[in-house]
Amino acid sequence: MNAILRMRRFGWNQLRWLLVSGWITCATTCAAAPIPDKLVVLTFDDSVASLHANVRPLLKQHGFSATFFITEGFTFTTNKVDYMTWEQIAELHRDGFEIGNHTRSHMGVSADTLGRLRGEVEFINQRCAEHGIPRPVSFGYPGNAIHPAALPLLRDLGFRYARRGAQPEYAYETGRGIPFEPGQDHLLLIPTTGDARPTWTLANLTNAVTQAREGRIAVLQFHGVPDREHPWVNTPLERFREYLAWMKSNGYRGIALRDLGPYVEHAPVPADPWAIIERRKTAAAAK
Ligand SMILES: [Zn+2]
Repeated sequence: MNAILRMRRFGWNQLRWLLVSGWITCATTCAAAPIPDKLVVLTFDDSVASLHANVRPLLKQHGFSATFFITEGFTFTTNKVDYMTWEQIAELHRDGFEIGNHTRSHMGVSADTLGRLRGEVEFINQRCAEHGIPRPVSFGYPGNAIHPAALPLLRDLGFRYARRGAQPEYAYETGRGIPFEPGQDHLLLIPTTGDARPTWTLANLTNAVTQAREGRIAVLQFHGVPDREHPWVNTPLERFREYLAWMKSNGYRGIALRDLGPYVEHAPVPADPWAIIERRKTAAAAK
């Protein structure tokens, strides 16, 4: 018995020495990678054809990654002028971009629709599998609608990250938002920092991405570039070129949601995922 205890003690001391001396790293005890300033998650919603035609080459040119949230909603199945084909979506995956799940019918998550969420998600997962795309680990809330009961469902469906809008902290109309604060924001309620609108100028873009500092990460939400089918979230191609060029020349990095792993996987999980949202609303009301 004593011999076994001695061996155990020796084993732990040896392990501790190896850790302290830096010979090995330990996934369960090491802290998360420090979050650099100027880290920007780029997300593109709704399977719009211009995302393949215009956004894909520009992202590649600038060396940025991104997440594309795919849905078969709107007129996806019949209108292949305005929406991508699955072959084009698979090409985005082969390029190294992330394919995220945005539900089959672009179904807003609410108390009334929760019962259909699994089927809506699994449909897109199945379509991904048919086209050689891995099962998505990122979810984009359609219409930015959120509900507390969706979190355990999304976790059970294998999602590690979910991007919401900037509501309820900010009114939808402005496109303004909140930087993502790892450890404060739940990974299935990652807020949008900037939600691109047709009236946006470079000043709106810089207002969003310059919040990516001091441990905070900016998350941008785009739709088509341009977007004929959803004109209220259209981004003109000339503006988008300007945004990416500014980000690149000012040292910003564009990443996909799944690339957050090293920065957030060891962050504490908030006990109450809604607490930070309430705190921000209270702080905003006090101003
Ligand atoms: Zn959408």
